[in-house]
Amino acid sequence: RNGRHLVALINDILDLSRVEAGRLDVGRISVDPFALVDEVCSLMSVRTASKRLDLRIEARGRIPVSVRSDPTRLRQILINLLGNAIKFTESGAIELRVWHEEVGGGRLWFAVSDPGIGIAPEAQARIFEAFTQADSSMTRRYGGSGLGLAICQRLVEGMGGSIDFRSHAGEGSTFWFEVPLPRAQAPLTV
Ligand code: ADP
Repeated sequence: RNGRHLVALINDILDLSRVEAGRLDVGRISVDPFALVDEVCSLMSVRTASKRLDLRIEARGRIPVSVRSDPTRLRQILINLLGNAIKFTESGAIELRVWHEEVGGGRLWFAVSDPGIGIAPEAQARIFEAFTQADSSMTRRYGGSGLGLAICQRLVEGMGGSIDFRSHAGEGSTFWFEVPLPRAQAPLTV
């Protein structure tokens, strides 16, 4: 287990360094947004099941069956956000929502909500900084390095999008992000 933690930490540090060095290549290949969300959820279902949490997917409105984007980066961001949601929640349901906004070339939105411990107001301003956790007891209680959100923010911004969150201590959190898409070439599902 220590080995796995170390590898995860090294990968996070490498990712962050790559992004900071401007070496982040953003791919543009065909992605089925709903299939991506479904795949990420089945990947995370081992963790939700072991904590007896529900994991729900909600697709709002019409979602293109194919968009041009970077599935590896999108997957990495979703895994990070879902990983946090699971880590900081002891009971209830985690929800992953996806929707498409038809403005310009279109935008893809994702939101991850949890009914977990939430983030204290005084910690909220620093949450996207690298190596930052809400408070110093976090590492002891939950592990982690405080790099996940810093990486997510840089990846989202590298794709031309934005990321934000809303959280109430003791009530839970919702993290969402959106990425712009090049002009849609594919039909929309109903
Ligand atoms: P890590 O999870 O490795 O500590 P992150 O950068 O992903 O690092 O998160 C930074 C901090 O933000 C966490 O340590 C935690 O304090 C807070 N945080 C992130 N997501 C959540 C969440 N869903 N619920 C409560 N706190 C969160």
